[in-house]
Amino acid sequence: MSLRKLFNFHGGVKPAYNKEASIQLPIAAAPLPPELVIPLHQSIGGTPRPLVSAGEHVRKGQLIGAPDGYVSSAVHASTSGTVKAVELRLMPHTSGLSAFCVVIEPDGKDEWGDLAPVPWRSMNSDEVRGALRDAGVVGLGGAVFPSYLKANAGKQGHLNTLVINGAECEPYITCDDMQMREQGEIVVRGAAILRDLTKARQVLIGIENNKPEAIAAMQAAIKATGETNIEAVTIPTRYPAGGAKQLIRVLTGIEVPHGTRSTDYGVQCFNTGTAYAIYEALELGRPLISRIVTVAGNVETARNYEVRFGTPMRDVIALSKAKPDTDRIIMGGPMMGYRMPSDSVPVVKATNCILVGSPALFPPPPPEMPCIRCGECARACPTDLQPFEMYWFSRARLFEKAEAYHLADCIECGCCAFVCPARIPLVDYFRFAKSEVWARETEKDAADQARQRYEFRLEREERDKQEKAARLAAKAAETKAKLAQAGSGDAALIAAAAARTQEAEGKSNAE
Ligand code: SF4
Ligand code: SF4
Repeated sequence: MSLRKLFNFHGGVKPAYNKEASIQLPIAAAPLPPELVIPLHQSIGGTPRPLVSAGEHVRKGQLIGAPDGYVSSAVHASTSGTVKAVELRLMPHTSGLSAFCVVIEPDGKDEWGDLAPVPWRSMNSDEVRGALRDAGVVGLGGAVFPSYLKANAGKQGHLNTLVINGAECEPYITCDDMQMREQGEIVVRGAAILRDLTKARQVLIGIENNKPEAIAAMQAAIKATGETNIEAVTIPTRYPAGGAKQLIRVLTGIEVPHGTRSTDYGVQCFNTGTAYAIYEALELGRPLISRIVTVAGNVETARNYEVRFGTPMRDVIALSKAKPDTDRIIMGGPMMGYRMPSDSVPVVKATNCILVGSPALFPPPPPEMPCIRCGECARACPTDLQPFEMYWFSRARLFEKAEAYHLADCIECGCCAFVCPARIPLVDYFRFAKSEVWARETEKDAADQARQRYEFRLEREERDKQEKAARLAAKAAETKAKLAQAGSGDAALIAAAAARTQEAEGKSNAE
C-alpha cells in the first residue's frame, strides 16, 4: 500500500461496477475471422491515405494507410491475405455512417512482414515520435489520440510526472486490469520508454483499489524489471477517476484548467495499453494491429480477448455467446459508450469493450421530467461544469451560449445524467450540441476556404492584368523609340506606333 499523498477531484459518482464476470478467465486470442474490415480512420485527426488496392497481397503489419496531416496515425494490415476492396463500410459509430475501409481476406498463414526493432535510444526525439506515428500507436483508453504528439518533454524540457492510467473506472470494462495482471512487465517497460522520451522525473501508475490483483502484479513487475522512478499507486475507486485530468489531480494535486494542456504543468498521461503498444512498436518493431477487448453484459461467458482490428464485433461476441434477448451492442461501457448500428461493425483501436445489452440489463429510462434546477448535476460534474445551463442552451439550440459554458470541456462521463432526479439524458443533449457545433465549424471552415480561394483568384487575375499591360506598354514604347531612331520619316508608321503606345498606356492606367 502506497503512503503517497493523494488528492480529491470534484464530483464523481459510484455506479455498480459489474467487473467480476469478465475477470474469471485469462485473456484469450480471438481467432481470425473470414474477413477483416479495417477502417482507415481510427484515430483523432486526418484520415490516412490508402496505400493498397483490390487484388494486392499484404502481410501482417504492412502499412495500408499512411498518416495524413500533422494529427493522424498510420493503419496496418492485421493479418496476411488479399485485399478484396477499399470501399465504404459501416463504421462502429452511433451515427450509422460509412467510411473507407480496407477489406482483407486472410490467407490463414498470419505471416508478419519484415519487422525491425527501432533503435530509439540512439535516435532524437522527433525520429522516435515519427516511429510511433508510423507504427499507428494511439491512446488505447478510448480517446485514440495519436501518441507521438503526446510523447514529448514539454516546454521545460522534461516532465515532472508521467502518469500511467490503470484506473479503468468505467463499469464492466476490465481489459486494462487483465493486461496489467498478465502483461505487467511489458506495461512497465513501455512506461520506462515513455519516462525516457519525456525525461519524466517520476512515473506514477494509478490503479483503483477495486483491482488488488493488478496492483500486486504491477508492483511485482516494477521489481522484476528493475526500472527506477516508477511506482504503482493505489487510488480510491470513484468514477471517473480514469479521466486523464481527474487522475492527474488525484495523483499530483494539479488542477489542469479549461483550455490548457497538462504538459504546460509538467504532467502527461498515457493508458496502460498504450504503454504496452509503445514497447511493442519500438522494441519489437510491431505496429499496432490488435488490442484487448472486454466482452461483457448479456453473454454466457464474459471475458477479455486479444482481437485484431477489423474483426466484426459479432465474431467476437459469438465467443462469449450472446443470450437470446440481446437487443443492443454498445462500444465502451454503460456510462460513456456508444450504441452500435449493427453487430457487423469492426473492432477498432477505440474498442476497449463490447457491452452486450438486453431490456432486462438496461431497462428503458423513465420519462424525462422538467429540470427543477436542483444543481445535483453540477455537484457531480468532475470537470466543474454547469450541466443544467449547458442543457438549457443545447435544448434551445443556442449552441454558442452552450459553448460559453465550456461545452467542449465536457468529457461525456455521464455523471450528471446519473444523478439527475428528472432523468434528463443530459449527455445526449451535449453530444447533439457538440455535433451541431462541429458541423457549423466545418461549414464555416469550408466557406472561409472558398472565400479565400475566390479572393486569391481575383488577386491573381488583377496581377496578371497589370503584368500584361506593363508588357504591352513596354513593347509599344520600344517600337516607338526604334522608329524614331531609324528616322525613316514615315510619318504614318510613327503615328500608328504612337497610337498603339498611347492605347497600351491608357489600358494600363485604366486597369
Ligand atoms: S440534476 Fe437534473 S434536474 Fe437537477 S439541475 Fe441538473 S438537469 Fe436540472
Ligand atoms: S457529462 Fe459532461 S457535463 Fe455531465 S458530468 Fe460529465 S463532464 Fe460534466
